[in-house]
Amino acid sequence: MIALPLLGAPVARRLRTETDKNVTTLRHRGVVPGLAVVVATDNEATLWYVRSIARAADKAGVNCTVVDLGADAGADEIASTLSLLSADEDVHGIILQTPLPPGVDGDELVAHISAAKDVDGANPLSLGRLAVGQEAFAPATARAVVELLEHHRVSLAGRHVTVVGRSAVVGKPLLLLLLQRDATVTVCHSRSQPLERYTSEAGIVVAAVGRPGLLTGDHVRPGAVVVDVGTNVLENGELVGDVDPVSMTEVASALTPVPGGVGTVTTALLVLHTTQAALRLTEELASVPTVGAGAPS
Ligand code: NAP
Repeated sequence: MIALPLLGAPVARRLRTETDKNVTTLRHRGVVPGLAVVVATDNEATLWYVRSIARAADKAGVNCTVVDLGADAGADEIASTLSLLSADEDVHGIILQTPLPPGVDGDELVAHISAAKDVDGANPLSLGRLAVGQEAFAPATARAVVELLEHHRVSLAGRHVTVVGRSAVVGKPLLLLLLQRDATVTVCHSRSQPLERYTSEAGIVVAAVGRPGLLTGDHVRPGAVVVDVGTNVLENGELVGDVDPVSMTEVASALTPVPGGVGTVTTALLVLHTTQAALRLTEELASVPTVGAGAPS
């Protein structure tokens, strides 16, 4: 069996048409949507990812500013940067890129991102709202996995999905999105051993760990659909996922490539979310009465 490649490009193109419509509406309002990406690392995989977000934003007519605070930035500096951006009317979407410098607690910092501009669903309020089914931006990578599967007509209702990785940005929100679509979900982490016990039971397996070659063809059952979220830069500069594509392609029925799979959809979603945030924020501004308007004379 040779696994079908589940490509991100057609999904990103579909999302882009929605983004373009929003950008046109915003232009009529005299608004250029703005995205700010705060970076405090020199991690190669992260910088690669940030460059791809900036490229996607640029192509869509979204103004992307990368605020690079350096790999030794402190928590106070990052917090005040996020607060300033939250108050900046030209910024409609804010991303705090991980990893952060050692000793800096990201969970505390993301609360400084205004919920209205939290286009990567990092603020705990966003995750909480998602958990109870209220409107919120889902973390873009988690949503990208679902968009990719739905676009390629992989049904989720009633299916068993095993997600490897339980981070707040991928594994946990993905659990919520999959449950909303009536999948039965197993979430694995570093203590789920042996991993193949859980991955081999599922019809759909998602790898979101950050370890090249963690999942091989021996981990899944024949015909499984495999989604590779991992983005790892090898010493030779090559970008690879968490799945060994050579052994996996002989067992799985479909597999997302790295690069060209989940990452492509994630960046398209971040840009789309920014335009959606800009639409909501500018609608809210337009509905705020000017001083004196409507006041009894
Ligand atoms: P993370 O915060 O480091 O979380 C990694 C998860 O993997 C943890 O839950 C960890 O378990 C689990 N894990 C570690 N070793 C394991 C093992 N041997 N077996 C099973 N589980 C294991 O990473 P993340 O931020 O979620 O990112 C995961 C990967 O996705 C990275 O490669 C990252 O670069 C990539 N990523 C890609 C995109 C994209 O758009 N494509 C976006 C974001 C992230 P514990 O909880 O027990 O430690």
